[in-house]
Amino acid sequence: MPELKVLISRDQIASRVAEIGADITRDLSGQPVIFVGVLKGAAIFLADLARQVQLDASFDFIGVSSYGNRPSPAQELQHGWDSTGEVRLTKDVDQSMRDRNVILVEDILDTGLTLNFLKRVLLGHQPKSLRIVALLDKPSRRKQPMQADYVGFAIPDEFVVGYGLDYAEQYRNLPDICVVPRPV
Ligand code: 5GP
Repeated sequence: MPELKVLISRDQIASRVAEIGADITRDLSGQPVIFVGVLKGAAIFLADLARQVQLDASFDFIGVSSYGNRPSPAQELQHGWDSTGEVRLTKDVDQSMRDRNVILVEDILDTGLTLNFLKRVLLGHQPKSLRIVALLDKPSRRKQPMQADYVGFAIPDEFVVGYGLDYAEQYRNLPDICVVPRPV
């Protein structure tokens, strides 16, 4: 594996997460929320973000997979995760979302397929409100229109790892967000 290059440092992440937490606290004005993290990549972001939000909060997690379409790790690094739209639910939420304020927490918004799918799934649970927060956004990769309500950082079309994001299940525990150089 080639050397990783830091794209966003742990300090930059911490101050941006605090800003987003303050925005959510202000926007929800005292109402309780449920954070729904997308497994597994958003787990670390959810843990940090939730501690920056001054509201009554509970956690839930949802799982998706692009099985059948997900390329090998090497292809994923080279071309990104070009799912053909066949996102499927591997784990639904555990608690009722009905009439609750739901905040869907995702690690990275890329083609937009995953969040469009999850938005439909969660709206089916009839929440009082649904907001989407994505730590990272690669706007140049979009295949389906999707805008998150809160975005940590817009990044170029690079493959990134760390702070929850993996490459073949590795590097999730890196404290910084790093670029994996693409093989030439
Ligand atoms: P989308 O459906 O928006 O194309 O993809 C979202 C999912 O693709 C993310 O949740 C993440 O799992 C994966 N993904 C997209 N870009 C990257 C990246 O640069 N690094 C990693 N580790 N995963 C990515």
